[in-house]
Amino acid sequence: MSNCIFCKIIAKEIPSKIIYEDDDLLAFHDINPSADVHFLIIPKVHIESMLHLNDEHQSIMGKIMVTANKLALEQGLQKGYKTLVNTGKNGGQEVFHLHVHVLGNK
Ligand code: AMP
Repeated sequence: MSNCIFCKIIAKEIPSKIIYEDDDLLAFHDINPSADVHFLIIPKVHIESMLHLNDEHQSIMGKIMVTANKLALEQGLQKGYKTLVNTGKNGGQEVFHLHVHVLGNK
């Protein structure tokens, strides 16, 4: 999506602090962190929000959550962390490319 800021981050058209990347996913630090550690995990395929999920997305969503935990541990959040997915306008979503927030204090 040409006007999507997270698609531009995936395409490296705008900078970000990437902590993990593979063929399916990208994880990077939130530009405005709300905790000691605050990163976002996104699918590389443009999915607008949880409202747009279908059965074909089961595997990518599972991969996002398993990777979220691996990265949280790598980032020093062994004592625990919070995950958050804002969904749609009424769910407080501001960037309309599905993303999972991972937040934790050390
Ligand atoms: P949400 O309300 O769930 O849509 O949150 C969007 C999140 O994206 C916010 O926490 C922003 O701080 C974050 N964000 C917006 N632009 C960028 C960017 N260029 N790099 C990293 N994080 C960003």
